[in-house]
Amino acid sequence: MTERLYYTDPDCLEFEAAIADVEEVGGRTIVRLDRTAFYPTSGGQPFDTGRLDEARVVDVIDEDGTIAHVVQPPAGTLRQGERVTGRIDAERRRDHMQQHTGQHILSAAFVRLHDVPTVSFHLGGISSTIDLAGEVTRDAIDAAETVANRVIWENRPVTTRFVSGEEATSLPLRKPSQRTGTLRLIDIAEWDLSACGGTHVARTAEVGVIAIRAWERYKGGTRVTFVCGQRALRSHRELRDIISHAARALSVAPAEMADAVEKLIADARASRKTTRMLSEELITCRVAVLASRAEHVAGVDLVVAALEDADAVALRHAATSLVDACGRVVVLLTTSQPASLVVARSADVTAVDASALVRYLAGHFGGNGGGKPELAQGGGFNADRDSVAREVATFLFT
Ligand SMILES: [Zn+2]
Repeated sequence: MTERLYYTDPDCLEFEAAIADVEEVGGRTIVRLDRTAFYPTSGGQPFDTGRLDEARVVDVIDEDGTIAHVVQPPAGTLRQGERVTGRIDAERRRDHMQQHTGQHILSAAFVRLHDVPTVSFHLGGISSTIDLAGEVTRDAIDAAETVANRVIWENRPVTTRFVSGEEATSLPLRKPSQRTGTLRLIDIAEWDLSACGGTHVARTAEVGVIAIRAWERYKGGTRVTFVCGQRALRSHRELRDIISHAARALSVAPAEMADAVEKLIADARASRKTTRMLSEELITCRVAVLASRAEHVAGVDLVVAALEDADAVALRHAATSLVDACGRVVVLLTTSQPASLVVARSADVTAVDASALVRYLAGHFGGNGGGKPELAQGGGFNADRDSVAREVATFLFT
């Protein structure tokens, strides 16, 4: 059993302890002490970092009563029975205390205002989340956020006390505890009473501010993402910079940005429509030019051409237009390498199998493909227009 100093004194950031044991497990050095101020990952709150003498603490694990400190090698002078000085990284601890106390205040606001309990909490590296048991409206979220901030600014005391499980049953806990034996209660004066093993600030004003960044439907309830204290300031700066960058790029004031973006989207949609129309017209023109260059080979009018800037869809479109006329075999390819290729033939040219021609060309130029006797296509061909034209002629004469 390790004595947990943070239970009664969350401001204790430096402490002396005796080393109970040092163990090497899977290349990691684990140190256990008789007492510690290091918080182990639990209840949604991540572990503290810091040092045991000179050794860096990189993880802290709750082993059901005993706390294991994982230290970065070399563990140096850490030996069983020796004394050691523990130092907690103050900034990380302060941040966790702000986020965690903010969570108590916000969860209580959702219960008090909307009767929606929190079912889980996760304190992340950038933001934190609570999962609410029900769906909530935007107005309900705004109201909970407003009241939670009022509680912060009222600077209410946050106290810790220990009670038996039996005593706890008669107390107005926000959430009934599943634990037996002694319970640690966190009391935010006249606002929230919860059983919790985490670290919290001493007065609500230390949380600074709670800002809800986002919410979404999640497993039949709502996942609310929020930031407190320093993180809220960081988040505000980040959003300010993103918005001013975007507003500058659009040459509008930040307040006009939403309208400007909507206009941009509408313009882009109109441009895409125009581009589609123009490319269809272009294909029609190309088809007319190609048709005029058809050569009479082996009883058919043969068109073989490489189309610049065309993709497989454009090739197919052009080829099917060309074979609307009688007596044609059309082979179109892209100029990019390896080339895509489309073969089509008019309905009356039953002696030519487009699919067989694609496979024949694949045999000569690599690539692959297939399709139907009247229309086939393929990709990965290492060939230019002239070499393809020669092989098509050979195919048609055999
Ligand atoms: Zn807590």
